[in-house]
Amino acid sequence: MPDAVATLPDPAIATHPRPALCVIVPAYNEATGLEEFHRRLSAVMGRLGRSWQVLYVNDGSTDATLAVMRQLRERDRRVALINLSRNFGKEVAMTAGLDHADADAVIIIDSDLQDPPEVIPELVSVWQEGFDIVYAQRSVRQGETWLKKTTAALFYRLMSDIGNVRLPRDTGDFRLMSRRVVEALRTLREGHRFMKGLFAWVGYPSKAVLYERAPRHIGTTKWNYWKLWNFAIEGITSFTVMPLKIASYLGLLVSVFAAVFIIQLVVRTILFGNPVAGYPSLMAVVLFLGGVQLLTLGVIGEYLGRIFNETKQRPLYLIESFLPPEDM
Ligand code: UDP
Ligand code: MG
Repeated sequence: MPDAVATLPDPAIATHPRPALCVIVPAYNEATGLEEFHRRLSAVMGRLGRSWQVLYVNDGSTDATLAVMRQLRERDRRVALINLSRNFGKEVAMTAGLDHADADAVIIIDSDLQDPPEVIPELVSVWQEGFDIVYAQRSVRQGETWLKKTTAALFYRLMSDIGNVRLPRDTGDFRLMSRRVVEALRTLREGHRFMKGLFAWVGYPSKAVLYERAPRHIGTTKWNYWKLWNFAIEGITSFTVMPLKIASYLGLLVSVFAAVFIIQLVVRTILFGNPVAGYPSLMAVVLFLGGVQLLTLGVIGEYLGRIFNETKQRPLYLIESFLPPEDM
């Protein structure tokens, strides 16, 4: 597929034969765990008996992550590295990796060893059976609170109910994707990137492989509930306009209710006169309607803001440096 080769920034690596597998590893402040990660990854990949390379994406880390990556690349000729110009977030870091990976299949894995590299051989063997996307599905979530588990379950539920994509449950970004899936993903350039949704949107035959998600090897998660909340909003607004529909139906419902209320009021006044009362109920209705209106405006604003961001057509990321693998 020559068109994919044309997207590579460095023509020099196009002269190499393409490796079978490319492992994409986004990393943000992971200096402490990266050596151990690379050791375990290499051990697993070595046993596969296929050509492979690993593409580390440094997502603007403020610690020694970049230095560690450089060391790894000096020691291991299969290591490529992208250094982004600043922290862009994991979704964009993965996109940068996908844009630069040139292999028959690509594997995305976290660098904190929560996604055990030991699962990769199984992903590869399912890919060999003819599946384009092989996603690793968590059977156990260790080291996570029940609150996180419940909110995660709720979110998957909501996305499959009102979103137009079916997200596989308990699945992160840890997955293998065939070349045509990666090429399809490259054509999706929206700035608000909800990768799990994009993976699902692409389609193609996919299959799950169960694994046990380990607690973090070292360091702490970069996710807090505020970020997770925003992530969920991103997912919903990227894949469904249902909240806008809910807003209009809510408006319709309230209007109908108000009309009935007014008719009832007029009839009652004609029949029984009007003993004025009900300042509190008036206040309640005004406040309620004010609240509904603000909420609705807010929902519209969420979408409007996203349209605003998308119209700017900014590049998704900027690369400070790209070091291709020396060898495969
Ligand atoms: N990550 C990244 N950019 C960020 C935040 C995280 O590349 O802005 C990477 C991080 O280094 C790790 C992966 O994304 O390899 C998952 O991050 P984390 O472990 O914090 O998330 P969790 O496992 O809790 O979902
Ligand atoms: Mg993690």
